[in-house]
Amino acid sequence: MGYIDLHLHTTASDGVKTPSELVSYAKSKGLQAISITDHDTIEGLEEGLAEGERIGFEVIPGIEISAEHSPGSMHLLGYLIDIHHPSLNEKLKYLQRAREERNPKMVERLNQLGIHITYEEVVRASGGGQVGRPHFAQVLIEKGYVRNFQEAFDRYLKKGASAYVDKLRFTPAEAIYLINEAKGVAVLGHPNTLGLNEPKELERLIEILIKEGLKGIEVYYPEHSSLEIAQYKAVAEKYGLIQTGGTDYHGIDKESLDVGVGRGEMKLPYSMVEALKAARDRATQSN
Ligand code: AMP
Ligand code: ZN
Ligand code: FE
Ligand code: FE
Repeated sequence: MGYIDLHLHTTASDGVKTPSELVSYAKSKGLQAISITDHDTIEGLEEGLAEGERIGFEVIPGIEISAEHSPGSMHLLGYLIDIHHPSLNEKLKYLQRAREERNPKMVERLNQLGIHITYEEVVRASGGGQVGRPHFAQVLIEKGYVRNFQEAFDRYLKKGASAYVDKLRFTPAEAIYLINEAKGVAVLGHPNTLGLNEPKELERLIEILIKEGLKGIEVYYPEHSSLEIAQYKAVAEKYGLIQTGGTDYHGIDKESLDVGVGRGEMKLPYSMVEALKAARDRATQSN
């Protein structure tokens, strides 16, 4: 049995590979299945799923939705969603508009800081997909304002930094509802970015999210320490959550990180996919 990777980005959001390229790359790496989980968009899924069909490789439709949360950030993953669901498409358009309002404001902030970049340059960097902060970082590097990706985020782009502008988001409950409504399975992405201080805080949050329809937690993730992995595993077991994992491969500025393996030996079993499918089937039967 091959391994899987349930967290990947394409050019539809801020990844470097097109959906087709990513799918054939994953197959060439000997993986058994992947999920494409672009930020707030399903624009890459039709192409990714078609390429999977064409070359005989399983692609699970997914999405990664940013939700309102503080002080850290909360990303909710949705797996096995129905990409043609009308309400899903309608609601994602709202998130696209929120980005279109936010992005020019970030250009303005940068200009005020004496950095001469234009919105057109950022759009060009996005290659026609959805515009996100990594595209700002790319332009800042190209124009010599920063040396690398991390410096761009630390100085200008990360939450709270000088050019950061917040965008409208869904609440966690709204994001989870949207995923369930589109017949998907909602999973809490990389809990280590939530900015929580002690394990009990995560448990309290998880209890709320489960009431709102959360079914799983992303336990395996390149930025999780072994301690965090153990903690998230314990939480999953305590609350009966599905355990998932993925590399969050974007293909930018993370040369050492690769699809399927992350920075080392990620090796996630196909049984994670089976657990997601079982959860999806249970939900459809109970409706
Ligand atoms: P956006 O879609 O504009 O909110 O950008 C989100 C993406 O920016 C994430 O998927 C990461 O690729 C990147 N990102 C966000 N925060 C940081 C950070 N502190 N350091 C490096 N990259 C970041
Ligand atoms: Zn990203
Ligand atoms: Fe994320
Ligand atoms: Fe991601």
